[in-house]
Amino acid sequence: MNSTIQLANIIFGVGAKVLGATDNKMMIITQGCSHVKCKGCMSPHTWDSKAGNAWAINEVINLAERQSNSPTGLVISGGEPLDQINEVMELIAKFRQKFAHAEVILFTAYQQSHLIKHYQDLLHVLDVVVAGAYVEKLTGYSLLGSSNQKVMLLTEQAKINYHDWQSWHCQSQVFIDNGEITLVGLQDTRNLNFGNGNNNTVFFRQKLTETMK
Ligand code: SF4
Repeated sequence: MNSTIQLANIIFGVGAKVLGATDNKMMIITQGCSHVKCKGCMSPHTWDSKAGNAWAINEVINLAERQSNSPTGLVISGGEPLDQINEVMELIAKFRQKFAHAEVILFTAYQQSHLIKHYQDLLHVLDVVVAGAYVEKLTGYSLLGSSNQKVMLLTEQAKINYHDWQSWHCQSQVFIDNGEITLVGLQDTRNLNFGNGNNNTVFFRQKLTETMK
């Protein structure tokens, strides 16, 4: 089987504690979002399921294998990744075949209870899920775009790697590729501090101004 998956973007080199614990993660941003559009969504370009590019899943995996630094993890975001659940499952299976020790993290607007009821197969192949729709008025922190979202730690390794996730600073990465700028991660724009450049990547971090709950 070699299905195609509709993607807005593929990014390599996502850093430690940016949308996941490990350094040098691969990220796929799925195209299409069937949810009621969240006010303040940072990714409206992902809403249209026909936009972006169709990728053969084998081609995505080949691209990962060709990286000089093997990915330590796979971040799956969107759009809504579960709109392409069969393709996402195939991609995860093939990624795990090639990168057995890498972590897999998925961000979805579906709630934790919905995932437990309807997506058990998916939960069995993930390390971490961040579940719940973005709510603009609820300030996010660490891995959360808004504080209503839930982090599900599904493997023993995830429980170790993420034991202190609530104390992580919101962190983002800007990728500049052929003049195109992509922002990855979460940020609190009220308090930005720009840090050192690193290859084509500029990191910036900001301390949380909200008290952790
Ligand atoms: S589910 Fe995600 S991509 Fe869709 S509108 Fe909400 S924040 Fe945007």
